[in-house]
This record gives sequence, C-alpha cells and structure tokens, in this order.
Amino acid sequence: MRDMSLMEKIVSLAKRRGFIFPGSEIYGGLAGIYDYGPLGVELRHNIKQHFWNAFITDRDDVYGMSASILMPERVWEASGHTELFTDPLVECKTCHERVRADQPEAIAAHEESHPEKPEWSNPSVFNLLVETRLGASEKSATKVYLRGEITQGVHVNFKNVVDSMHPKIPFGIGQIGKAFRNEITPRDFIFRLREFEQMELQYYIRPDEEEGKRQFAFWKEFAFSWYQSLGFDKTRLRLRAHAPDERAHYAKDAWDIEYETPFGWKEAWGIHHRGDWDLRRHSEYSGHDLSYFDESTGERFIPWDIECSGGVDRAVLFVLLEAYREDELGGETRTYLALSPRIAPIKAMVSPLLKNKPDLVARAREVRDALRKAHPAIAWDDNGNIGKRYRRQDEIGTPFCITIDFDTLGETPELKDTVTLRHRDTGEQERLTVAEAAERIKGAIQ
Ligand code: ATP
Repeated sequence: MRDMSLMEKIVSLAKRRGFIFPGSEIYGGLAGIYDYGPLGVELRHNIKQHFWNAFITDRDDVYGMSASILMPERVWEASGHTELFTDPLVECKTCHERVRADQPEAIAAHEESHPEKPEWSNPSVFNLLVETRLGASEKSATKVYLRGEITQGVHVNFKNVVDSMHPKIPFGIGQIGKAFRNEITPRDFIFRLREFEQMELQYYIRPDEEEGKRQFAFWKEFAFSWYQSLGFDKTRLRLRAHAPDERAHYAKDAWDIEYETPFGWKEAWGIHHRGDWDLRRHSEYSGHDLSYFDESTGERFIPWDIECSGGVDRAVLFVLLEAYREDELGGETRTYLALSPRIAPIKAMVSPLLKNKPDLVARAREVRDALRKAHPAIAWDDNGNIGKRYRRQDEIGTPFCITIDFDTLGETPELKDTVTLRHRDTGEQERLTVAEAAERIKGAIQ
C-alpha cells in the first residue's frame, strides 16, 4: 500500500495550483462533484486528445461520434440499466447515512465516526441512474435519464453510422463524454464521482468465438499499452480478469486495467466483451433492425461488441499520483510533477532573466511567439526571481523553462541568439538556439 498522505498532497496541490476545485465550493459544494481549473482542464484535454488520436484518428477502422447526454427511459430499459444498474446499500441505524454494502472501507470509515459500533440495516438494492424530466408542464413532462454510461449513445446510433459511413466489419465507433451515476458513496477525491467523463471505443466484430477471443486479446493489450503511455511505471499498473460473479450483466469476458493507488489497486479502465447484448436488445426494444449485412460473405448478423472504456477523471487522478515527486535541488526541497510532456498542461515557460530590462523582455516575447508556432501551450512568466519561477513551473509539471539573458542579446558574441533551456526533472540547463529549443519541445511531446 502506498503512502496515504500522497492523496492529501495531491488534493491540496490540485486546488492550490488551479487543477481541480470542489464543485460550487462557495455554496458548500456537492458530494462527488468537482470542477476543473485552468491547468486541470488542459491536462484533461491532453489526455482525451491522446486517446482520440490513438483510438480514432490514427486508425482507418474507427469512427468518432458524440451523442447526447439525455436519453429516453426506453434506452435504459433496453440496455438493462433500469433493472440491473444497481449497488447494494446499507443504512446506519444510528444516523441514517447510507453506504455501499460491498465496500468494507466505506463501512469501516463510517463506523469510525461513531463512538460505538452502529447497527446496519439489511442490504437493499439502489439504482445508480440519475433521472430528470423534460417538458414544460407537469402532465406532459417525460422522464429521461442523464446517461449512466456513454456506451448506449453509440449503440443507438449504430445504424446511422453504418448507413452513412458504410464501414466494413470489423470496425469501431469511439466517443468521449460525460456520464452520471448516483454513486452511494462518492469518495477518494475524483476517483468515484457522480458526474464524470468517459472515453470509449465500441469495436464491432463478426459473431464468432475465435474472432471474439482474438479481438478481445488485441484490444486488451492495445488499451494497456496506451494507458502506460500516459507516463506510468509498469509496476503500478496491472491487468486483472473479472471473476464470473463480478462481471456486468452484459459481459461475456471482462478485464480491468488497475493502478496501485494509496487506497489500493483500483480500476482505471475496463475491457469488456459485450457480445450482441446491446444491439440485440436495442433491436427488440426500438423495433429497428440493428443487424449488419456483410457484403463479402453475403451474411446478415448482429455484430458482437468489444468495448474499451476508461474514466477521464480517474486518468487525471492516477497521472497526478504517479507524477508527484519531492526532492532536493540546489540545497532546497522542492515539489514537482514528473508529467509526461505529451500531457503536461504547459509545455514550456519562457521568461526574461530580469523583468525591468526592456531589451530582454522584448527579445523574450519574440522567442515566446516563435516557440508558440511549435506548440501553443507555451507560457510567459516574469514574476519574482528566476528560481521562484522555476519552482512554480516544476510544481505544475512544465517540462522545460527557457530563459532569455544578456548573452541572448549578444553580450558574449558567440552565444548571441541562444537561450538556456532548463529540464524540470534534473534542473540541468543547456544552451541552445531558439530553433533547437523548439525541436526539443516538439520531440518531447510526440
Ligand atoms: P467501479 O467498479 O469502480 O464502480 P465500473 O466497473 O462500474 O467502475 P464501468 O461501468 O466499467 O465502471 O465504467 C468504465 C470506466 O468509467 C471505469 O473504468 C472508470 O474509469 C470510469 N468510472 C466509472 N464510474 C466512475 C465514477 N463514479 N467516477 C469516476 N469514474 C468512473
């Protein structure tokens, strides 16, 4: 088990440095709801973009789409969620707080808050779907659900994508978007939220056992290696097969990618063999034929679906936990985030050595503008002394700091037009031309 104080340090850094804030904080907040600040939104965006590139843009066999959050009740009846998307719940007979019966840590945490061990009710079943009503009058308002998973938005558009794009099977449809679950015990910062974001691929294949095994093995490895590429140490990530009694109602096979957090090994991502469950049920419930006609064989069938489904917010949390470092540099302790440059919110910070020298400032601005052509996420900082600026950037995970000094202006003729480039993890500096610095940044984020 890793050090629990790490979690507290991440929560504090995330708030202090503009990554993540408690939702609607000035009104007392809402349990399981968080807002992303200026740096958090960039980090989250970069993770999503990395997913989108690897799973969708870089592939010829996958299409992207974006479905709506609100969906009619019938969708969730078809998918099985109104009946089966439940967690067991127990209620404390002393204070009437409810917690998940299958989470011993939540029960233990609650019991600690009472001087004497409280009595619990018998477990009951609690549905996680969040419902609302659409329509102006009480009478005509229709019950709708905020989607409990983004998956169903893809399945209900299966026919639209097939009819418009004419894909050859096997093919996939990927999506990123918000999902909502009335989690009984939201906890562990942004690990278990009530409003969160998912990034997913539904990959449709011929209904064939061998093909199913082959594709499942492929996507399991693909997702695992993609997750590692977010910058994880391999010893803290693992693949784990679900036991048959752990699987969701639709799953023929299911594996999780898990990360070793300070609160144990936790699910980051799921790879599920959903068989034909979703398309078959939506065919039945909607009355629309969601089969696929394979022109190469002349066969018509309902495809099977191999799903890769990951939480964006969990990726943000795990990336922050993984990147957090404390060390000593130049005789001082420092905190830094060893984020992969690919997902770091800011790629480089440019600053003039001294703020009150107009020539230095003007040249530094030119350098910043030139570097922005290599990548837009180049920041400017001329506050405080240079050491403080470096520490600020270290703490938010900026991989490079570039300083314009008097040598850049030609004080040492052979160094004219060169800058210093400082590396976050080692604090080492090198002297480079602006073009070379741009290449360094480009190379690191590829
Ligand atoms: P868990 O067992 O942790 O409740 P799950 O198995 O219900 O998760 P899935 O339905 O497979 O999760 O959802 C796919 C992914 O969505 C998960 O791997 C996780 O990263 C993310 N996710 C699910 N529920 C939440 C939540 N309440 N808060 C944040 N992310 C979530």
